[in-house]
Amino acid sequence: MIVNLISDTVTKPSAAMLEAMFSAEVGDDVFRQDPTVNRLEAYTAELFGKEAALYCPSGTMTNQIAIKCHTQPLDQIICDQSSHVYQYETGGPAFHSGVSMKLLKGTHGKITASQVEEAIEADYDWLPVSRLVVIENTCNKGGGSIYRLPEVLPIRTLCQERGLALHLDGARLFNALVETQETTKAWGAAFDSISICLSKGLGAPVGSLLIGDVDFIKKARRVRKVMGGGMRQAGYIAAAGLYALQNNVERLSIDNQRARQAGAVLQQQSYVSAVRPVQSNIVIFDLAGKLSAADFLATMEEQGILAVAFGPQTVRLTFHLDISSEMMERVIEVLSNYETAG
Ligand SMILES: *Cc1c(COP(=O)(O)O)cnc(C)c1O
Repeated sequence: MIVNLISDTVTKPSAAMLEAMFSAEVGDDVFRQDPTVNRLEAYTAELFGKEAALYCPSGTMTNQIAIKCHTQPLDQIICDQSSHVYQYETGGPAFHSGVSMKLLKGTHGKITASQVEEAIEADYDWLPVSRLVVIENTCNKGGGSIYRLPEVLPIRTLCQERGLALHLDGARLFNALVETQETTKAWGAAFDSISICLSKGLGAPVGSLLIGDVDFIKKARRVRKVMGGGMRQAGYIAAAGLYALQNNVERLSIDNQRARQAGAVLQQQSYVSAVRPVQSNIVIFDLAGKLSAADFLATMEEQGILAVAFGPQTVRLTFHLDISSEMMERVIEVLSNYETAG
């Protein structure tokens, strides 16, 4: 038995999802004639109480399109130093948009309104123009930490007062919302644009959505095209996304619960020096003494558990819908007995 915890992107379409894909009605989406893509975009916009949405191949693309649409060259983005747009999108903000980034030292990836306020540049021609704030919920590199709306609204107010746009990298937003019971509409109202991933915990094979008002999405559609992201009979994969949004949201609490369970077991182990607070489906922990992530992962792999290094002595486990309860038992058993096995 192989238990793949390297990411929640590793899931494969279920039989029911494949069925939805096979029976999708399709057309040429560049001509806006794909009824399934149109349905997915309308459904998502409505879900967040926004005017429009745009289906894209990846969350990197939706984030980078948002940055491009909100900024001009010489502008600056304010975000946490661990954010995906900075760490894992190949330096896209410089490449696509010619903007710089002001990195904040948040707490487990989360930033506050007062940190943002301090970071906004004064109006001198030797300084970049602070134009956009990006926050991430849940925060991946922060250990899956969750923002609650009352933490975000002061940032929203500040951005409005100071003329900055606010973008949400909501790759795993639904993992947060099933915990907080906050609504998509309330989150929609708090941001100028939102990116969500269908290919993470929601279990679709591919796809992300960018959500915003009509003018913003019109501009975003042109940027998607120049990036090569205009797809033709995309309804086949959009059908998987629609299925995911309609069937796989509530069950994310199972993944969150399993992560908490694994986190609690790791807390008890002498080979672990620290576990980041587990709030959603991600567990990030540090190894004790001289134990390297590489050695730990190699031993885990021998026992059929796959995970990733998040630093020389740091490991990430990610729980998702392709983990059965049998697999979960195996994970707990291996984590509990690592000392004797290693
Ligand atoms: C996965 C992820 C993305 C987008 O990644 P893609 O692999 O390009 O779809 C963006 N932000 C966060 C926080 C992510 O975890």
